[in-house]
Amino acid sequence: MYPEGVYYEPEALSYELGKQLQEKFRGVPWIPIDSHNNIAELRGSSNKEFGNMKRYLIIGIRKTHKYVENHKISDFLVPYTSSGCSAACLYCYLVCNYNKCSYLRLFVNREQMLGKLMKTAAGADRDLTFEIGSNSDLVLENTITGNLVWTIENFAKSEKGFLTFPTKFDMVDPLLNLDHGGRTIFRMSVNPQEVISRVEFGTSPLKNRIQALNKMCDAGYRVGLLIAPVVLLDDWQKLYTQLIDQLAEELSPKAKKALTIEIIFMTYSYVHRAINNEAFPNAVELYSASQMTVRGRGKYCYRSELRAQGEELLRAGISQKLGGCPILYVV
Ligand code: SF4
Repeated sequence: MYPEGVYYEPEALSYELGKQLQEKFRGVPWIPIDSHNNIAELRGSSNKEFGNMKRYLIIGIRKTHKYVENHKISDFLVPYTSSGCSAACLYCYLVCNYNKCSYLRLFVNREQMLGKLMKTAAGADRDLTFEIGSNSDLVLENTITGNLVWTIENFAKSEKGFLTFPTKFDMVDPLLNLDHGGRTIFRMSVNPQEVISRVEFGTSPLKNRIQALNKMCDAGYRVGLLIAPVVLLDDWQKLYTQLIDQLAEELSPKAKKALTIEIIFMTYSYVHRAINNEAFPNAVELYSASQMTVRGRGKYCYRSELRAQGEELLRAGISQKLGGCPILYVV
């Protein structure tokens, strides 16, 4: 990604990474801001501008370092080196009001963030797993900052703990020859190619994602697969059957043996609808009154009967065609 402009906190330029980014993107306007949390001229933009705003980069210093307990694949969700994303998946849970989460924000104080992580890992009485990719896509971010390479190599020196992150991107080549020390768990998120093309704008094709997962497995990383989020477009039975078939065909035998699987059904919201209807007027409508029910204020999820059908189809396919890879959870 080469941005159209960079908004930055001036203090960020006193960090090594801030200086590197300034050098890298010196061909575009750099606009100073008081806080990466509140950029008045972007905050006022209409929803129609949502896609365009993704062409900006925001550079600042992360000040909130609070870990959130998590009981799925990790012990903690860790706010890390970026937030937001320059891709545009229509359901992305990073989407929020006031456009604050539309663009990619990069935080330059990575030494401080990794330092806390390593200290927490070292002080625990068991191996903790830290989810570092819940606020953005770190494989995508790595193409701009090199932060993932830096993180994996440095965390390999830790005597305890694991890092994990999911991705929808295939740019894993810089990660393959790293000395990762077995301390990083790579999880690839997949969907049928038709869902990727119609819903996950700007992300990597399915075929490439499967190849990337195979390569990471060959490079000795622990690997996982996320079927997420399951999006029930009209012909979902056909699409998800094809997805399992393609996985069965293209995942390497080694990856199939090593994989764990997570399945997450899509949730959607009033805010998503409002933004998507204006920003992507020709895109598929993900809200369906007949398929969905309200869950919490302004949130929608699939009705339980429909969800159960989806789960049954996926569980049967995985059991029959993927050698029964363990399914860690379905939500
Ligand atoms: Fe959100 Fe991930 Fe899609 Fe980026 S790739 S828009 S972080 S779901």
